[in-house]
Amino acid sequence: MDTILVVNAGSSSVKFQVFSVDGRGALERQIKGQVDGVGTRPRMRAADAGGGVIADRSYPAEQALDVSSALGIAGTWLREEQRIAPVAVGHRVVHGGPDYDGPVLLDGAVVSRLDRLSPLAPLHQPHNLAPIRSIMANFPDLPQVACFDTAFHRSHGALADHYAIPFGLYAEGIRRYGFHGLSYEYIATELQKVAPGIADGRVVVAHLGSGASMCALRKGRSVDSTMGFTALDGLTMGTRPGQIDPGVILHLQTAKGMSAADVQNFLYRECGLKGLSGISNDMRDLVTSDDPHAILAVEHFVHRAALNVAMLAGALQGLDALVFTAGIGENSAHIRARIADKLGWLGAGVDAKENARHATEISTPDSRIPIYVVPTDEERMIARHTVAMLANAPPSLG
Ligand code: AMP
Repeated sequence: MDTILVVNAGSSSVKFQVFSVDGRGALERQIKGQVDGVGTRPRMRAADAGGGVIADRSYPAEQALDVSSALGIAGTWLREEQRIAPVAVGHRVVHGGPDYDGPVLLDGAVVSRLDRLSPLAPLHQPHNLAPIRSIMANFPDLPQVACFDTAFHRSHGALADHYAIPFGLYAEGIRRYGFHGLSYEYIATELQKVAPGIADGRVVVAHLGSGASMCALRKGRSVDSTMGFTALDGLTMGTRPGQIDPGVILHLQTAKGMSAADVQNFLYRECGLKGLSGISNDMRDLVTSDDPHAILAVEHFVHRAALNVAMLAGALQGLDALVFTAGIGENSAHIRARIADKLGWLGAGVDAKENARHATEISTPDSRIPIYVVPTDEERMIARHTVAMLANAPPSLG
């Protein structure tokens, strides 16, 4: 049976999954793994379809000094020990710029074009592209497909796409791109199965993980998002502040003498739940803490989330459903209930029992807004796109 390799490369780790694909394009996950500790203490772990551990190995630092060699370790293991020879590789690439509104088959020219977008996502894009280049060099005939976090949001109209800044800067690429698009695209397709009645309606999807954003869907297409030019804007996140007055950044630079690099590190790594609580970026640690700063951090997360649901409902001119997904959205009944509670004025109500068991529909029968929990699967979305690209067809629901 054919297999597809899906790669999600970051700065210090590379995640990979292997899907088998049958003659009708149906996908089944076979292996899920990652190599982390790149450049420090590389370690590869992998599990089979049932979650059983099939690899857990450490390597000397010099064997995985960068993400490309880390993926090389995984590739050699997949080929030589698991006998996997993928027919194509699908990559998560954070930025597709203003032009790509869907996945693209990669060649040298496309990679160069994507490289020119690196200044827009300096912490992610170069790491996403490095393994693509090394696979291209070592396996020139293996088709590779780039799937972008931004592509799903290219359906935004001008009002959602522009900042109120001089038009020339928009033309240069300073736009509200939006991110987590593969997650939202997956949820939009899942809604057709789990809630066909609202899949064509006005839906706010809350992707609440260590990175968090929301997307306004109308008829399954993105019309607005809480994230913009970078993945810093919008909701309170694990270590990112979400919406912040740009004057704060100016103040940090002028009054506190922080360099651009200092500010970048601050915004990506020191803010959000971690900065507010001074304890942890992990919601699990905070919801069980009675420290007043932890309580404030959780309250802030909930408050900003509820405000942003209402903002996106404004963009949609109404709300037919709310969907929770990602680490916090899928697993924390407590946070879901608290956000829904703050949306009581909109008529939202959560059924405590259904919520506690993480049911697909967690709203009360008389809730004016149905509320769903739908697990996301960005890697499966990438695998679907990759199969569709090979077959030159739209992605299936497999
Ligand atoms: P993700 O980025 O989607 O993988 O989400 C990871 C985040 O989900 C972690 O940092 C945790 O804060 C959060 N998370 C996972 N499980 C739970 C849970 N049961 N309760 C609260 N937060 C959770």
